[in-house]
Amino acid sequence: MLVNIFFIFLKFFLFFLKEKKSNRKMQVEFLVSEHMPELPEVETLCRQLRRTIAGREIIRVEILDHRLGTVDGLVGRRITAVTRYGKAVVMELDNDSRLLLHLRMTGKMQWQSPSREIPPHTRFIISFSHGRLLCIDTRRFATLAITSDGSAQAFAKDPLHDFRIEEVHKIARMKKLPVKSFLMDQRWIAGIGNIYACEILHEVSVSPWRPVSGVSLREWRKIEGATKEILERAIACRGTTVSDWRDLFGRKGEYQHELKVYGREGLPCLRCNGVIQRLRLSGRGTYFCPTCQRR
Ligand SMILES: [Zn+2]
Repeated sequence: MLVNIFFIFLKFFLFFLKEKKSNRKMQVEFLVSEHMPELPEVETLCRQLRRTIAGREIIRVEILDHRLGTVDGLVGRRITAVTRYGKAVVMELDNDSRLLLHLRMTGKMQWQSPSREIPPHTRFIISFSHGRLLCIDTRRFATLAITSDGSAQAFAKDPLHDFRIEEVHKIARMKKLPVKSFLMDQRWIAGIGNIYACEILHEVSVSPWRPVSGVSLREWRKIEGATKEILERAIACRGTTVSDWRDLFGRKGEYQHELKVYGREGLPCLRCNGVIQRLRLSGRGTYFCPTCQRR
């Protein structure tokens, strides 16, 4: 009898430990996914890459993580341009093909001299005569692919290149989701993640929970203006470092000092003095001012 009771207790204890561990894992995953690179961070990388590798010839490629698959035919190719589409870095090559790099959750690019040590979690290295480009990625979600067409774009509009707001409005009218989830849906608008979606909606005084179908064209024009302004300012600051974002040369961004709502829970709203709140929306920590973003 006593032995049975002991085993029942032991079972409960082990179950409790397991639950606690998985909760902690969920919290860590939440923090990581919260701060994945968004459009300004990827644009920062593109601008730095353009200055560093455009016109240069690839002399060596090392794939250190087999999960990336193989990318053949890069050695001897010259990078003619570096562009961006949404959150993807596009390196154009002199044989009309393109190297597409998507950093996903935790991917980082780092430029270094060949004499430096290769950091842990490096997944591939592209070498040039004047230095090498590393992709460091703890969670191994970043992808690398060669394509010979312009593809991968479908409808998604890049807010800095082709934000055709009338078309966005037409699609949004048919959707039932909250406006913030729509802004972050990469199928319709490319490059906006959690931080900038919070900032944009605060700027235009729209509640993140408002059904996107009810956002008028006039309001979409305001969202368009705020989006461009916020993203361009964030690019000028080389992105937002609230956890581990670093630019190509290992430096932190500066836009975290200019955030008006993200990360400011409990602090006064800079516009109306209301108190900023944080609530979950589709699993993401959503910061907003309940006073001036009432609708
Ligand atoms: Zn406010």
